[in-house]
Amino acid sequence: MSLDKSRELYQKARTLLPGGVSSPVRAIRPYPFYTRSASGSRITDIDGNEYIDYCLAYGPNILGHANPKIKEAVISQLDKGWLYGTPTELEVSLADRIAGLYPSIDMLRFVSTGTEATMSALRVARGFTGKNKFIKIEGGFHGAHDAVLVKAGSGATTLGKPDSLGIPEDFTKHTLQVPFNDIEALTTLIEKYSDDLAAFIIEPVMGNIGPVLPEKDYLREVRKVTGENDVVLIFDEVITGFRLAMGGAQEYYGVTPDMTTLGKIVGGGLPIGVFGGRKEIIDMIAPSGSVYQAGTFSGSPASVAAGIAVLDVLEKENVHKKLNATGDMLRSGLSDIVADLGLDYTVSGIASMFKIFFGDQPQNYQDVLRCDKEGYLKFFFRMLDSGIFLPPSQFETNFISTAHTEDDIEKTLAAYEANLK
Ligand SMILES: *Cc1c(COP(=O)(O)O)cnc(C)c1O
Repeated sequence: MSLDKSRELYQKARTLLPGGVSSPVRAIRPYPFYTRSASGSRITDIDGNEYIDYCLAYGPNILGHANPKIKEAVISQLDKGWLYGTPTELEVSLADRIAGLYPSIDMLRFVSTGTEATMSALRVARGFTGKNKFIKIEGGFHGAHDAVLVKAGSGATTLGKPDSLGIPEDFTKHTLQVPFNDIEALTTLIEKYSDDLAAFIIEPVMGNIGPVLPEKDYLREVRKVTGENDVVLIFDEVITGFRLAMGGAQEYYGVTPDMTTLGKIVGGGLPIGVFGGRKEIIDMIAPSGSVYQAGTFSGSPASVAAGIAVLDVLEKENVHKKLNATGDMLRSGLSDIVADLGLDYTVSGIASMFKIFFGDQPQNYQDVLRCDKEGYLKFFFRMLDSGIFLPPSQFETNFISTAHTEDDIEKTLAAYEANLK
């Protein structure tokens, strides 16, 4: 496998872009492959190497790359113009669809990224309660804004820089943390700070360190303790939304938060974010209320058109059943391989998310940190050499799309077996 063109381009890229990339997790050492094109389950680099893609842009591409129905919807929107600075029928239509699917969402606002969604969700939760502090899960990732970059997962963890320079301590002093799957720690913290506690934000399945799944009844207990103490419960479903089920993890687990953030899948691969919740909370956003939030690209027609198209496909073709069956097939194949080889590794996952942890089954961030990160990275390169593109980190979830065929899965399992050996 030759990577000459990528290596050469990297020399130039690193003089212009920090680390040669536009987002840290893409920075594979010694240099990343640069992509030329992608279609279905495959991604092709500028040297012409083709890989089966389980990174899928870190989650959005649930129908695989360049899905024809999404492409058609975007092209048809481009013909009518792609940015108006006025409201559109499209956004009302997508909002209606989302509100119908997510019991927690009476009203919502469109933004351009998941980062913006969680940033704004926390602002409105603080505005609504008149309180300052919020709790997040240790290792939970909610984008790259100041308040949540405290022991964040994803790229921030991988690089060993849980906190960032450039964020005044004053900005994060209201950010409290608890371990995942620990209801006692949460209850204690809520009781201690209830006078000034606005919200609890949580990925119901931790997608940025794994996936790490909630233990039985954990989310139900989270709902109970936040409800009893008037703490706004925010489910960050930027990954799990439309992936675990049409109605996300809240549908899957039957637990309804007060607010929800969405992103990734709901833009069909174009930039989008959504935050929504109970009417009395979301109606506090300007111009209805006095919590300010605004954006030039919010509700961008091309993104919204792509979002409607992806929901159409997911809903009409009843995709999740097939997708989850593919996930089951892959996970059980991987479990067999790990068992046959006698490795102390763990196959984790749910629905169309999966991962092999190079260590014991983790329950939280500290457990994940104990996994063999260097070993995983070596394995990542071998897989790449076998034509399989996994996210280049022990901390990132692998995703499956509807474009992945049984043949892809068989090839993938064979590569796992050979390389784990
Ligand atoms: C990706 C992600 C975000 C941030 O979304 P961006 O669109 O990258 O800003 C927020 N929360 C979770 C759970 C995510 O996985």
